[in-house]
Amino acid sequence: MHQAEPLIFEKSSPGRRCFILPACDVPEKPVTSFLPQKMLRKQEAQLPEVSEIDVVRHFTRLSQMNFCVDTNFYPLGSCTMKYNPRINEDAARMEGFTKLHPYQPVEQCQGMLKLLYDLEQILKDISGMSAFTLQPAAGAHGELTGMLIIRAYLEKKGEHRHKIIIPDSAHGTNPASAALCGYEVESIQSNASGLVDIEKLKAAFTHDTAALMITNPNTLGLFEKDILEICKIAHDAGGLVYCDGANMNALLGIARLGDMGVDILHLNLHKTFSTPHGGGGPGAGPIGVTEALKPFLPVPRIEMVDTLTAEDTAENIYILNYAHPDSIGKVRAFYGHIGMMIRAYTYLLSLGKEGVCKVSEYAVLNANYLLHKLKNHYDIPYGKTCMHEFVISAKKQKQKGASALDIAKKLLDYGFHAPTIYFPLIVEEALMIEPTETESRETLDAFAAAMIRIAEDIEQQPELVRNTPQTTPIGRPDEVKAAREPKLRWE
Ligand SMILES: *Cc1c(COP(=O)(O)O)cnc(C)c1O
Repeated sequence: MHQAEPLIFEKSSPGRRCFILPACDVPEKPVTSFLPQKMLRKQEAQLPEVSEIDVVRHFTRLSQMNFCVDTNFYPLGSCTMKYNPRINEDAARMEGFTKLHPYQPVEQCQGMLKLLYDLEQILKDISGMSAFTLQPAAGAHGELTGMLIIRAYLEKKGEHRHKIIIPDSAHGTNPASAALCGYEVESIQSNASGLVDIEKLKAAFTHDTAALMITNPNTLGLFEKDILEICKIAHDAGGLVYCDGANMNALLGIARLGDMGVDILHLNLHKTFSTPHGGGGPGAGPIGVTEALKPFLPVPRIEMVDTLTAEDTAENIYILNYAHPDSIGKVRAFYGHIGMMIRAYTYLLSLGKEGVCKVSEYAVLNANYLLHKLKNHYDIPYGKTCMHEFVISAKKQKQKGASALDIAKKLLDYGFHAPTIYFPLIVEEALMIEPTETESRETLDAFAAAMIRIAEDIEQQPELVRNTPQTTPIGRPDEVKAAREPKLRWE
């Protein structure tokens, strides 16, 4: 059992300090002499008064209460919680990168720009798209950028289409991004196999529709096998296809959405390309576009130009080009989350082309292995085989007295993070499981054993599963109260 950790304010003792500065040996200046009045505090800041070791111990203890992929299996569907190789961290911490300033002249940043340029080329290669921007800071931000590009493109053609079609299996960020960009969102119901319903799509995709926003593989972990026809329907009606490629872990090196007719695609470096995520930390959601949409990408574009050196030999130099008049402009300060790009680039180079294909083969194999281990114990509403993830339903278990939420909580007692629950919305009591390629067979077996044990417990004694977790620092908080009355301030 963990000991409760008090707030750092509760450890405060008046006058205690981390570090005591030597007496000032130059004349002291009052803060009012160099800061404008409006910037001054009216009351002194209420900071905890603690020693340095108090701070270190407090935060180290808190960090150990957290569940993380570095300690345990984390099969959070749609989130691709794969191992983040440490070599990525070493590369991102190289001084040549960390000491660069974004306002430094480009002549001094050639290495950095080459890395960004090359990363764009690799992402093009993997996806089949014609051009990439690395600026968006997350998947949802990539979606918004994509929507802005669609709008700019259509408006340039003189078309004022106002609708975006989104299947009901879509990630919640999809309709939010479309709506934020001023589009009206029309949801279409998936068919009995959990795929886009072609007839419904045909009926819905009219001349006021700007685009279809589709996820492939979709959130049920199924490949949209009619993707060619789907793209044709959108294009025949003069619209575009936006693909949410946050879940590319099943397709790397195997199939390219760009070859299937998709016009815009976002990728999540912090999922598929092993850069860390969670806790709202920095991510990266690059988007790739077709040739026709390239002029609308955010500026600056990282471009390579050939020059001749003094010795008359050809040399490539990299520039930041702002001269793209149709660009939607900047979507992020400077050039995006560079640290994430260095990590993703390192990951891709350390795998190489062959390694990248293996990622997807193993991700799909691991997911199917688990699916088959669990299929006799839980309902699998869609698909007998899956791509990189699958969705089970705890409908049967709910009737016996323990819900998907209870199962998720109980898993913590077995040392596993919960799968994604209650998503996608089209599956009742959904548990969405994504093991990723970086887990061993032993880990998958242990997880399956825990899931099966839980199913058996629910048959006999559902209360064993309901009153959980018992072994974590915090048991089951009142989630409604936490959401409605968050206490975010220490008083
Ligand atoms: C994670 C995810 C997103 C959103 O990505 P963020 O980086 O969290 O903004 C969008 N779509 C799908 C399918 C996802 O899995």
